[in-house]
Amino acid sequence: MPYEIIIGNGGEQPFTIPGSCRAVSHNHARFYVDDDGNWFITDLTGPTGNGTFIRDSNGEFRRINTKMIDRDTVIRLGSGGHNSFTFYANRIIAPDDFTFEFDLLHRQLNDIRQEQLMLEAENEKKAKRIRGIRLGGAVLTISFIAVSLITGSALGVAPAVLSGAVSAFLPTPDQKKVKDLIERKKTSMVCPKCFSPISETAVYNRVCPLCKAKG
Ligand SMILES: [Zn+2]
Repeated sequence: MPYEIIIGNGGEQPFTIPGSCRAVSHNHARFYVDDDGNWFITDLTGPTGNGTFIRDSNGEFRRINTKMIDRDTVIRLGSGGHNSFTFYANRIIAPDDFTFEFDLLHRQLNDIRQEQLMLEAENEKKAKRIRGIRLGGAVLTISFIAVSLITGSALGVAPAVLSGAVSAFLPTPDQKKVKDLIERKKTSMVCPKCFSPISETAVYNRVCPLCKAKG
């Protein structure tokens, strides 16, 4: 027997589309299963609407009118960004399937980790450079002081002032960027179902320890 449901922010799908997804229409798309078990999605927003998109094998989202899909098809309601809603087709049948959301969390976590490593390496390099210049300045100061003592001039002060001036203009290790990354991790690593913060382990295990949402 064919099966048909309307997907949208007022739709019949077995999961809720957050109100923040403003690009999603009341009746946004039609999901249809024919007698042979084939799955189809049809856009209901029309050519001037926000559109229904599916992700192709190259990872690009393509606007569709009607398209045969399968469980693994990624569907996006709206043209992208925070206003749109994206999910795996399987969620229409299995509403507690958060595979897409956990995939996304994985990618975000990996990106953040990579950025963190790069930033740490960069900061270490900067710190080393600053230490080197300060050391050079100190050695220079000591030798000039020695010269000053011998010659009785005030020459020893010059390199100290100079090295101080140079290090003031050097970029210091960027702790702010590190803090921003940690903050970003905190705000993005939340459960897709209950929205409570979840640990990196939970993301890798693909299950929320609180509400047991998994994907
Ligand atoms: Zn949860």
